Amino acid sequence: MSDLVIEARELTQIYPVKQGLFRAPAQLQAVNKVSFSVAAGRTLAIVGESGCGKSTLARMATLIEKPTSGALTIDGRDAVNPPDDQRRHLRRTVQFVFQNPYGSLNPRKKVGTILEQPLVINTKLSKAEREEKVRAIMAKVGLRPEHYNRYPHMFSGGQRQRIAIARALILSPKLVVADEPVSALDISIQAQVLNLLADLQEELKLAYLFISHDLGVVRHIAHDVLVMYLGNAIEHGPKEAIYARPLHPYTQALLASTPRVDGGKRERMILRGELPSPLNPPKGCVFSTRCPFVTDRCRAERPEKREIDGRLVACHYAEDFLAKAAA
Ligand code: ADP
Ligand code: MG
Repeated sequence: MSDLVIEARELTQIYPVKQGLFRAPAQLQAVNKVSFSVAAGRTLAIVGESGCGKSTLARMATLIEKPTSGALTIDGRDAVNPPDDQRRHLRRTVQFVFQNPYGSLNPRKKVGTILEQPLVINTKLSKAEREEKVRAIMAKVGLRPEHYNRYPHMFSGGQRQRIAIARALILSPKLVVADEPVSALDISIQAQVLNLLADLQEELKLAYLFISHDLGVVRHIAHDVLVMYLGNAIEHGPKEAIYARPLHPYTQALLASTPRVDGGKRERMILRGELPSPLNPPKGCVFSTRCPFVTDRCRAERPEKREIDGRLVACHYAEDFLAKAAA
């Protein structure tokens, strides 16, 4: 038995988009053949600009949306077309935490009731047993006993995200998909929530799919990083390799826009131009319209992902960037 909690192979999501009354709908490729896996106790960070397909990937990983094509296995079970008797197990195995700590909690319910709800639906525990479990998970995420009877609006953003995390964990999932979980929080609060997630992972051996538009945010929590651009995985591998020697020009640009922890300066590399529409992606390399190193080959030919220096990268000139990084 492998300890892979989630395995995605060539996961693809295409949305039909209406183009007016008399035209056939266009095909919007939100996610294009993205493959990855996450083992127990590990974090894969999915990173890229707004619109690159991160949330679409999250919706597929949490079974909210079925992929157009590709394979998805969660806890060793087919998650694309699960047999009826597996569906329940899958729904408990993967849980999510969303970006907005304000909109995701029912304002009319007390915290205790919100956290108890999944137990009412999914277990046969008695009222007293449910309360015991809720109080235990509240302590684990750093909420105080008196919070049990309070309403969500009485909490700060960071504490609401603790409530959302507690709700995600109450059914003991193996995988947590967190879509920009700290993006709406103040910088000082972000670190607290990230530390909490890291502690919970260690204790509970959780697998995380952690989504962020910011490579700076995932630097400490990620084990592996997958960089997306226009629905495509363009670089994917161990965090150390990606931060030390980003080989795709898009990863280089993303990294250049995050402050360095040691306070040093990076070579600035500003992204030119607009993100192309996913309705009309560039024919060659998806990044070719904005890449400072673009050549005719890049405009004509889509680079295949290949393994270089311990990671997968989709750039015709990745070897040259590696040589440059080593020089
Ligand atoms: P991200 O989370 O990285 O910002 P999304 O996954 O939300 O990106 O969106 C990826 C692309 O898919 C965007 O171009 C978005 O407009 C489009 N998209 C997302 N959901 C739908 C949908 N239900 N119907 C049509 N297009 C969609
Ligand atoms: Mg999103």
